[in-house]
Amino acid sequence: MTPMTREHALALDAADTLAPLRRQFDLPDDAVDGLIYLDGNSLGMLPRATAARVAQVITQEWGRGLIGSWNSAGWMAQPARIGDKIATLVGAGPGELVVADSTSVNLFKVLSAALAIQREDAPTRRVIVSERSNFPTDLYIAQSLCRQHGCGLRLVDTPAEIPAALDADCAVLMLTQVNYRTGALHDMAALSAAAHAAGALALWDLAHSAGALPVALNADGADFAVGCGYKYLNGGPGAPAFAWVRPGLVDRFVQPLSGWLGHAAPFAFDPDYRPAPGIARYVCGTPPVLAMAALECGVDTLLAAAKLGGMAALRAKSLALTRLFIDTVAARCAGQGLLLVSPDADAQRGSQVCLAFAGDSAAGRANAAYAVVQALIARGVVGDFRAGDPASGLADILRFGVTPLTTRFVDVWDAVERLRDVLASGQWREPRFAQRGAVT
Ligand SMILES: *Cc1c(COP(=O)(O)O)cnc(C)c1O
Repeated sequence: MTPMTREHALALDAADTLAPLRRQFDLPDDAVDGLIYLDGNSLGMLPRATAARVAQVITQEWGRGLIGSWNSAGWMAQPARIGDKIATLVGAGPGELVVADSTSVNLFKVLSAALAIQREDAPTRRVIVSERSNFPTDLYIAQSLCRQHGCGLRLVDTPAEIPAALDADCAVLMLTQVNYRTGALHDMAALSAAAHAAGALALWDLAHSAGALPVALNADGADFAVGCGYKYLNGGPGAPAFAWVRPGLVDRFVQPLSGWLGHAAPFAFDPDYRPAPGIARYVCGTPPVLAMAALECGVDTLLAAAKLGGMAALRAKSLALTRLFIDTVAARCAGQGLLLVSPDADAQRGSQVCLAFAGDSAAGRANAAYAVVQALIARGVVGDFRAGDPASGLADILRFGVTPLTTRFVDVWDAVERLRDVLASGQWREPRFAQRGAVT
């Protein structure tokens, strides 16, 4: 076991070859004394380059270049160009991935494609398999498509139930690679292979994995993928998302949001839709140029890690950070009723640590997870609360995301010390910490 001292955490930071990457960001601790941000898995930090780049797009490209900038500033090429950059982070090839719309909208497109392909190849397969604890928007989109296509959604309660759910009715296995509530990481290669062996297609949501850990879409046999721009890709609030389709499948289906910029020749203004070849057909309308410029700055912060070992090195640091978090909680918060909800095995954990309170602890009896997260925020530790579901036996969760580009080992140590203080002092019981905002 590692010696648990603040000095030890500082020594780990001093030895960290990725530490300089942190300077790419406008760090809140420069402005707000002692702020520790452990929520990059909900909204990534602001890169230093972003404000100037977006200002340049506004004042120069838009202000001076006006409509000519669609060509001269490469605006029209953004979905493919930024897509190629993201492709290098998720094991996809050039020309295979586009940036467009939101994760929810892209999921609608790729899930429609998967269902349509199965309707041709295996019309009796009419079930989408997913997890009840998947992020709700994924389930809502699937429910809508089930209504339109006369299909069913089959939800499993634990990953162990997935293989048995892949039966002769299953058309698509739709999973989020890292579970947003627990941080549990699926084995993409094994589950894609299991889906294929059962005659199903494998669709992956990379919202909590793109930019957080190495992803190998082609090598691991994925068929479809979507991912989020504002989490680990640091693209800013509401950043555009991305879509990827296995090259062998991409031309088989015309996704249903057949807008003009997914047309083979948009500027022919042909009254009849003809899809562009390849992934370009997954673009619907005009790219949000300002948001795209911000997203590109965010993606560039990850590409900057390439010379220091890339995603593999970032993953090693992420695991060292979450390991330190777990071990420090065990050592320093013993007796406070905290349970580890994330997998303890490194290979099964994404880039976050989720905790819950044992039902028979003081905090557990008081349903204190929300108040504890608020009390921590008041002490400068920004994590988040995710509501449980008593009907499914899921506890309320305290979630702490680490982002290896920015999180330091000493941040982990200090965050756990403040958690210990909030619990040991009973400060979370103050009424002000029970008040709820619209966004939690
Ligand atoms: C964050 C997240 C989304 C976000 O979808 P939006 O369309 O951007 O709101 C979707 N799916 C998962 C699994 C997520 O974690």
